[in-house]
Amino acid sequence: MSDIPRSTDVLIAGAGPVGLTLATVLADAGVDAVVVDQAAEAANTSRAAVVHARTLEVLRELDLADELIAQGIVSSRFTVREHDQVLLTVDFDELPTDFPFALLVPQDVTERLLTARLRKAGGDVYRPYRLTGLDVDAGGVRGTLASGETVRARYVVGCDGMHSFVREQTGIEFTGDSYPESFVLADVRLSWSEPNDQVALYFSADGVTVVAPLPGGRHRIVATVDEAPEKPGLAAVQALLDARGPRRQPARVDEIVWSSRFRVHHRLAAHYRSGRLLLAGDAAHVHSPAGGQGMNTGIQDAVTLGHKLTAVLQGAAEAVLDEYEAERRPVAEEVVAFTHRMTRVATVGSAPLRGVRNTALRALDWIPAVHRTMAMSLSELANRPAEER
Ligand SMILES: Cc1cc2nc3c(=O)[nH]c(=O)nc-3n(C[C@H](O)[C@H](O)[C@H](O)COP(=O)(O)OP(=O)(O)OC[C@H]3O[C@@H](n4cnc5c(N)ncnc54)[C@H](O)[C@@H]3O)c2cc1C
Repeated sequence: MSDIPRSTDVLIAGAGPVGLTLATVLADAGVDAVVVDQAAEAANTSRAAVVHARTLEVLRELDLADELIAQGIVSSRFTVREHDQVLLTVDFDELPTDFPFALLVPQDVTERLLTARLRKAGGDVYRPYRLTGLDVDAGGVRGTLASGETVRARYVVGCDGMHSFVREQTGIEFTGDSYPESFVLADVRLSWSEPNDQVALYFSADGVTVVAPLPGGRHRIVATVDEAPEKPGLAAVQALLDARGPRRQPARVDEIVWSSRFRVHHRLAAHYRSGRLLLAGDAAHVHSPAGGQGMNTGIQDAVTLGHKLTAVLQGAAEAVLDEYEAERRPVAEEVVAFTHRMTRVATVGSAPLRGVRNTALRALDWIPAVHRTMAMSLSELANRPAEER
């Protein structure tokens, strides 16, 4: 790509799903933005596998919803189970949205479509450029890159992930904790008798295990374990499903397509803005992948922030930028709390407590309002701005 511009209105650090979305919203509005990413190439691993209804609503604004849906699996139901017993069912098909389902699609596919869309809007990503310095003065910010080049901008947005350099420079606290467990993540080919358009969450004393269908005949397995192997193999994933999955007709792992392990934190930035520096996505919040909401919350941050930045750069008062934190931080706070509760309920250790939990969940399963509340929370439709409800 050509030489990096020396000045711009918005410098975006990080071209993950959040940076790409923000850059596209700005490009569509005619705002000058530069996106840099330290990686030489976009990540090609599947990571976040669920795109929820609220995210599809905001991606429709970018004309991306239909294209993404064409690449994924439409899933209208999540079930919570203990082995063969269904404890709770969450149906999405009655949701008040044009997208009454969860879309299962690997993150690299989502990022590929976002990158193509950014190019269509006239933008692109500068790689490999690592942001290593920020100097803020009255008129703007000078961003220094590891290459030694500098970019002057009116605003800098850290979409640079959990270990955000931008957040570090602001001194904004990132409070929370880490879960003691680690997560096994595997995309597999699976033989099993369950429907291939539903997500199943298996609760067990040893940890929670999610089995979700992916396009191309694959399934995503996510499981909490005390200590995950660096690269979980077929035997390890099979052992997890044997111990926690269906018993009447056990699942068989035929092949591991990709696997990884990761550690999960639940942390939230105390603020999303410090003057001309702003945060979005994992730079501002990280949480358990139970419910698959990390990337979703971040993409929604990016769309909101894109509109606010556009307004300010087109003459609105700077105070409009504070609305971003006011609107989006409570959403992340709720997601962090919700996924934390789910993770704790899923991993209740003692047999008597498990019995109480299962009885309570089965009782709740009879109450339609509970289904609706769960579906609204998981789909993130509960977080729609008031004017869109
Ligand atoms: C192994 C794994 C599995 C996951 N599974 C799930 C899941 O099942 N469900 C779910 O919801 N979420 C999952 N996540 C989380 C999900 O991937 C993130 O929530 C999502 O990627 C956040 O997007 P982002 O754009 O904020 O940050 P990221 O995707 O982390 O992107 C940040 C970008 O910033 C760049 N960068 C960092 N520092 C700099 C710098 N100083 N200068 C320039 N560029 C920089 C990086 O190269 C990167 O491209 C998973 C994450 C991992 C790692």
